[in-house]
Amino acid sequence: MAGNDTELDFRKLYDGFHSPVTGIDCGLKCAPHNPSRKPFCCDICHAVPVAYRPEWDYLREHTRLWHKWRGNECPEEPCNPMELLNQTPYHLFLLACKGPAFCEREYRAVSCRQFPFFPYITSDFRFIGMTYDWDFTGKCWVISHLEQVTSAYRQEFVRTFDRLFSTWLEDLDSYALLSTETRDHYAALNRRFPLLHRNGRNYLVSPKTEKLTSVKANALKKFSPFNE
Ligand code: SF4
Ligand code: SF4
Repeated sequence: MAGNDTELDFRKLYDGFHSPVTGIDCGLKCAPHNPSRKPFCCDICHAVPVAYRPEWDYLREHTRLWHKWRGNECPEEPCNPMELLNQTPYHLFLLACKGPAFCEREYRAVSCRQFPFFPYITSDFRFIGMTYDWDFTGKCWVISHLEQVTSAYRQEFVRTFDRLFSTWLEDLDSYALLSTETRDHYAALNRRFPLLHRNGRNYLVSPKTEKLTSVKANALKKFSPFNE
């Protein structure tokens, strides 16, 4: 693994990325739509958290909240772990927590804190803001209410990933790949996708040209069942 992992202090990183995504408890908005009644991002049947390798070292030393994902944590859908493990970049571990009833907020992984967003990287490798994981459009209320994302959260997200990318270039590479897949996904749909820019403004990105068009957050697309 390239980079200077020892320089990253995860307690400091977590303390600088603690603001909630929105001013309200968004889990109350999505959980009623999940048969398990758990917020989707905290339900192992819907989302498997990850941790950077040194982050896992920090977490296992300080809390019993987490264990390495085995693949049998979702009782309705036990799966062959090798399939997902083979798709996971080397610098990350798949984890499972004890569940939302036992959450310890101070020991949430970066992947919990960033959900439902990931850093968007342009084709010339610039980290310019955040966009959401399209797999969760029908599950995550925040995706349909981007106007509720606070500027404190956005600033902390940007600062955190600036710090991570300055330490692990391979993480930037992973997100560059995901951003390329995102452009391909939306190009196939012939649709632009939203970007919460690091400059505090919001844009629609044209997937083929990467042209940014300024847009108001409350004009962005909403998805069922959150399009009220
Ligand atoms: S981030 Fe999305 S999925 Fe997670 S609790 Fe909030 S609305 Fe639900
Ligand atoms: S640690 Fe907390 S925030 Fe993260 S997945 Fe578990 S319950 Fe959700």
